[in-house]
Amino acid sequence: MIHVLDTRHLGKRGIIATTALETNDGIALFDTGPESTFDNVVAELQRIGASAEDVRHVFVSHIHFDHAGAAWRFAELGATVYVHPRGAPHLIDPAKLVESATRIFGADMDRLWGRVAPIAREHLRVVEDQEVVRVAPFDIRVTETTGHATHHHVYNWDDVLFGGDVAGVRLGKGPPIPPFVPPELHVESWLDSIDKMRTLGAADLYLPHFGRVTDSLDAHFDALEQRVRDWSTWFRDRIRAGADEQELIPAFAEFEHADLRGGGADQSLVDGYESADPSYMAVGAAMRYWRKFHPAEISAAPAR
Ligand SMILES: [Zn+2]
Repeated sequence: MIHVLDTRHLGKRGIIATTALETNDGIALFDTGPESTFDNVVAELQRIGASAEDVRHVFVSHIHFDHAGAAWRFAELGATVYVHPRGAPHLIDPAKLVESATRIFGADMDRLWGRVAPIAREHLRVVEDQEVVRVAPFDIRVTETTGHATHHHVYNWDDVLFGGDVAGVRLGKGPPIPPFVPPELHVESWLDSIDKMRTLGAADLYLPHFGRVTDSLDAHFDALEQRVRDWSTWFRDRIRAGADEQELIPAFAEFEHADLRGGGADQSLVDGYESADPSYMAVGAAMRYWRKFHPAEISAAPAR
């Protein structure tokens, strides 16, 4: 039995989910939401007849605070936290993570994400690409899926896939969009990851933002791939034309919102997408990506 638990982050429904799987060894949680919503998740666990202590396994897609921020709370209660090799050092010692997040969120850190504390090594299990973790009666397969972050995994069992952020943000009846965030956006890796997810042959996909995808997964991944390509190209052309960050922030918001409306989102859903994945984050991410990996493609076109 799988349950989508709403963290009600900042009082909003349908933005950040954690996914609970009932196993023979308690609850396996896929992502935890931020620490600031821990109490809401505990209330959601009670709604399904479980307690915080029943969570024995925590699989994090990646270590961003909206996904793994509350992992240390469950570890304190005895859960094992499964994480990518590149994510593990930051869960053991979160100092650098806090420092870089504070650069982005400043004084808002605590209100947005809550408290951060280290996870004891004995509660952490580093898992590698293609490893299978037995949590009876399930065999949970780990697949490394970079592009959104270098420390990202998706997890699948039976015909179910837990997708993390690399599988897209998709709210309500809106379309899937790729959350471009600094500093690790890598377009080619993202496209490879979409191919990897396609080959897992899942029938059901669960997203942290938000819940079970009701569309066919082929259609979902096709639409996601198209946006990874279109959005990165949109940025390339404007960066090449000399646009700076201050111009790109409102221009991209306008572009993205039009894209969302074209995909069936109304204004309140567009606002929801901004909460789940603020459009301004894509600007810094894309500028860094093009400058670092393809500087020649954004240098001014030669005169003809
Ligand atoms: Zn993320």
